[in-house]
Amino acid sequence: MSTMTSCQMFELTDDQRALRDTIREFAESEIAPHAGEWDETHHFPADVVRQLGELGAMGVAFPEEYGGLGAGAVAMAVVVEELARIDSSIAVTVGANVSIAGEPVLLFGTEEQKQRWLVPLARGEHLGAFASTEPGGGSDVRASTTSARREDGCWVINGTKAFITNAGNELSAFVIVTARTPIDGGAPLSAFIVPNGTLGYEPQKPYRKLGWHASDTRELVFNDCRVPDEALLGPLGKGARVFLTPLDGGRIGVAAMSVGLAQGALEQATAYAKERTAFGAPIARQQAIHFKLADLKTQIEAARLLTYRAAALKEAGKPFTEEAAAAKLFASEVAVRAAEENLQIHGGFGYIEESAVPRFYRDAKILTIGEGTSEILRYVIARQMGLTE
Ligand SMILES: Cc1cc2nc3c(=O)[nH]c(=O)nc-3n(C[C@H](O)[C@H](O)[C@H](O)COP(=O)(O)OP(=O)(O)OC[C@H]3O[C@@H](n4cnc5c(N)ncnc54)[C@H](O)[C@@H]3O)c2cc1C
Repeated sequence: MSTMTSCQMFELTDDQRALRDTIREFAESEIAPHAGEWDETHHFPADVVRQLGELGAMGVAFPEEYGGLGAGAVAMAVVVEELARIDSSIAVTVGANVSIAGEPVLLFGTEEQKQRWLVPLARGEHLGAFASTEPGGGSDVRASTTSARREDGCWVINGTKAFITNAGNELSAFVIVTARTPIDGGAPLSAFIVPNGTLGYEPQKPYRKLGWHASDTRELVFNDCRVPDEALLGPLGKGARVFLTPLDGGRIGVAAMSVGLAQGALEQATAYAKERTAFGAPIARQQAIHFKLADLKTQIEAARLLTYRAAALKEAGKPFTEEAAAAKLFASEVAVRAAEENLQIHGGFGYIEESAVPRFYRDAKILTIGEGTSEILRYVIARQMGLTE
């Protein structure tokens, strides 16, 4: 457990610091030297993801009885932060696998589903995906049109999901898909676990994206895809809950990714500002430059504290919807600012694809969009404040 009281400083425990150091060392030695090439070639580095699984990164927050380390949500945030400090593609591969694929199985799965899907996920043996977004709508889950009808004792799924992470690479084992199910004259959402390889489940080729080039994002087509009753995850007609409950935890993951990316950008900018001279002195001596760096350092620390606070509340079993939304909203906007200032401080070199600077700039923008756009998060916070329905 992390140590935090309402008015004290936040400090990581010895175990959390040891985990952070392990992941930092791995990220610096095994990821940093290759991240530029993976970005350029849009390569999904399955071997490195597998090695991270062997290190325990996928199971940090899951209970030991389900293959995890039982180390809690703060430790998980620290892992994602350290990965994003070096490579956001790897960070989102881990973050999405844990929070939007593993967590729904932990929260809503039967014992059999946990053994089959969660245990290997937590041990890093396979990846899971969660598919809610459709070409016709992401923020508005009510716009979902994918359907599942009963036929011969099976569920038959038809529809298309857009922008889905971790669904079609060599480690992908299953996707949780939300679909409209006819019940009592209505059609509420239900969630189903669809194994990769199921007839009629067709992951398309990866998108070409602005950033996160080394992560796996695809459109998924369900074409008369048949799954048995045991595929239903959570109660029939409660798919919105299966989707929305883990989303709060997912937002802590994106907040942690944002803190890590911003930290990496700040470190790059600081090193360059000390080394680059203009008008006879390092540019860091110019107030215009060192004020930027001082502002970023302050904002990153604030984002980190918001993130750890939300994670500590989750870990303590307390409500954290508003705190997770606030952490993600603030941290993602800090990340975009840090990536932009990093590029600005690098001047023309920042615009050339020979360093990590442009990669960080391209990777930052999705952080204000995925798992709740900044606009939707303001709405979530306002609703928690009692300002709107
Ligand atoms: C790389 C990547 C990976 C992703 N991974 C996954 C995944 O694994 N699983 C998954 O299900 N989805 C995934 N997504 C989808 C992502 O969660 C959605 O893109 C996001 O939720 C926004 O939905 P949308 O793109 O349909 O935008 P829209 O919902 O169409 O929104 C468009 C714009 O309108 C604004 N807007 C919408 N409604 C309102 C409102 N009520 N008030 C004010 N503004 C509003 C939004 O803020 C946004 O600016 C991923 C997306 C990307 C790009």
